[in-house]
Amino acid sequence: MSPYEHGEVFVTDDGAETDLDLGHYERFTDENLTANSSITSGKIYLNVIEKERRGDYLGKTVQVIPHITNEIKEKIYSFEKQDVDIVITEIGGTVGDIESQPFLEAIRQIGLEKPANKCSFIHVTLLPYISGSNELKSKPTQHSVKELQSIGINPDILVCRADIQIPQNMKEKIAMFCNVRKENVIENSTVKNLYEVPLMLEKEGLADAVCKRLELKNKKANNETWEEMCKKITKIKAEAQVKIAIVGKYVKLEDSYLSVAESLRHGGFANNVHVDVNFIDSETINSRNIKEKLKEYNGIVIPGGFGDRGIDGMITTIKYARENKVPILGICLGMQMMVIEFAKDVLKLKDVNSEEFDEKCQNPVIHIMEDQKIIKRKGGTMRLGAYPCTIKKNSYTYKIYGSENITERHRHRFEFNNAYREEMEKNGLKIVGTSPDNMLVEIVEMPEKEHPFFVGGQFHPEFKSRPDRVAPLFRELIKKAKK
Ligand code: GLN
Repeated sequence: MSPYEHGEVFVTDDGAETDLDLGHYERFTDENLTANSSITSGKIYLNVIEKERRGDYLGKTVQVIPHITNEIKEKIYSFEKQDVDIVITEIGGTVGDIESQPFLEAIRQIGLEKPANKCSFIHVTLLPYISGSNELKSKPTQHSVKELQSIGINPDILVCRADIQIPQNMKEKIAMFCNVRKENVIENSTVKNLYEVPLMLEKEGLADAVCKRLELKNKKANNETWEEMCKKITKIKAEAQVKIAIVGKYVKLEDSYLSVAESLRHGGFANNVHVDVNFIDSETINSRNIKEKLKEYNGIVIPGGFGDRGIDGMITTIKYARENKVPILGICLGMQMMVIEFAKDVLKLKDVNSEEFDEKCQNPVIHIMEDQKIIKRKGGTMRLGAYPCTIKKNSYTYKIYGSENITERHRHRFEFNNAYREEMEKNGLKIVGTSPDNMLVEIVEMPEKEHPFFVGGQFHPEFKSRPDRVAPLFRELIKKAKK
């Protein structure tokens, strides 16, 4: 998935590389999802082809219907064997997409195979806002419902995404034209704070509609803690604000760093400040303009990334933050760049680089993972998912996490070259987190008395942050930025 087209690749604990929607699901439901929660056409086709090669279908013609659709249904039904009460299946994309056709056909069949009170279809549609006449248009909704009905799916509930509140008469019109009960037309309008959405949907009666449709006992929802959190966010004073710069390479599409931006906002909730997140293209930064570009920021994040475009700007940014004591967090590639910058500027090493960018450099302070030296391909060779990390007790990072043993999620091929550990530490870049066997460097820091916040992690802390339980590194970054 290209970060420019598809936004960030979200990584689960068990190492699945998924669509960024899963990140939202985790943040909203506070559940760690797994690879089973992300089903792509590729996975489905691969399974079917493998089954065919094994001879599972001997004598049969293998086709999209029923083989591909059966495979999709099997994935959904597999949750029945687990401790799960309700399966929510989102079919991504838009009705009419070629890619989603087999998926829609599969859920149509599920609707038929299950008793009527065991399956409900919820359709999310857009009501475009026309600014000139200050109105919402229901035509696209009518069309997409029609399209859905033509393939045999009758939505029970419509969740209508709109920029403004939906007038009652429009809801009635939508209900009539789309053959949906009027109380099942649910408004999903733009709210100031994203985390208010579940409360809005509750107020709109989404859960009631689902309970009714599935004939479930409808308990009164207990959203107290979530409501408190939203209230707390609303109370943050307008002038309480910190400005954070994300200096990376995929800035053209802000969704590329979605979880990082959300985690920064979570850090704001925990510190009672608004976080103004800004994206700066590292390619536009050089030693001449750095001061001008970054002077108004209270903190900096160098996020993950692949390939050498824009790395010079990242190194310049790190040097600026290190020397001017601006709080800075390096994530994955960002951490690797911190190590490279330190080797160049403090250790005064010549020809320093990551093997990712220059295989033949004299000082590869970042090099390819040991077990991958022999694999000569780039697909499917990354360290993925949650790995444990042991933190040194007397470090700043230990103070931040409040624990010696943590796990964080990974997605990388390159890592700290252990040959440089001693020299780095001697000169002030401390290695304070490693894998339990001490082989993989996970966290580097400058001690708190040397720098307010200079921390780099080989992992992605943003994937575990939740609005009411911010990832510790983001909490501390914002705390220091606020100071
Ligand atoms: N490109 C680097 C690597 O493969 C960093 C990856 C990342 O930032 N996720 O190790």
